[in-house]
Amino acid sequence: MIKIGILDLQGDVSEHQVMTEKAVSKINLKADVLKVKTASEVAKCNGLVISGGESTVIGRLIKENSIDTAIKENQIPVMGTCAGMVLLGQQTDYEQPLLGLIPMKVKRNGFGRQKLSFEAELKLETFDDPYPGVFIRAPYALDVKDEAVVLGQIHDKIIAVAYENHIATAFHPELTGDTRIHEYFIKEVLNCVE
Ligand code: GLN
Repeated sequence: MIKIGILDLQGDVSEHQVMTEKAVSKINLKADVLKVKTASEVAKCNGLVISGGESTVIGRLIKENSIDTAIKENQIPVMGTCAGMVLLGQQTDYEQPLLGLIPMKVKRNGFGRQKLSFEAELKLETFDDPYPGVFIRAPYALDVKDEAVVLGQIHDKIIAVAYENHIATAFHPELTGDTRIHEYFIKEVLNCVE
């Protein structure tokens, strides 16, 4: 059975678990969606979701628990949202541990502080209809390189990127009722398994 792990170190983990379960049933798949905390639990996953939260904290715990090694050795597809997007990048404007799985730089808090959080309808390359974007102290990507694909922008800022089987979004798909981003990721995971 396919296993999708929701990295349970810090942040809005339960919301991602609920949305991933909804997405799994929407595409009529049988999969375990479970919270994971350790490198050995992560190593058994076919895909891993890294939630929003505080990327400095999540990144430090990833390193301390050798979860970065488990992801890389097992070539696990990762979906990272908000803080998760920061962690997927190769460089930020702060000194902090990153996974560097997507060739891009990330500007943390790129849209300003908490009170400048906002919602916007997004036109993403992946879907015909607009996607409800929820931005909370969101980052944006820049210098997206190699084969990485920009999936969406707002105010000329890159807010969704796909590379290999990873996907990063600056916004929070787990805080909407819309499962399309999670479904997209699960399909990427399935591509790696088949
Ligand atoms: N600004 C936070 C960070 O860089 C991310 C905020 C969020 O995940 N909502 O860690």
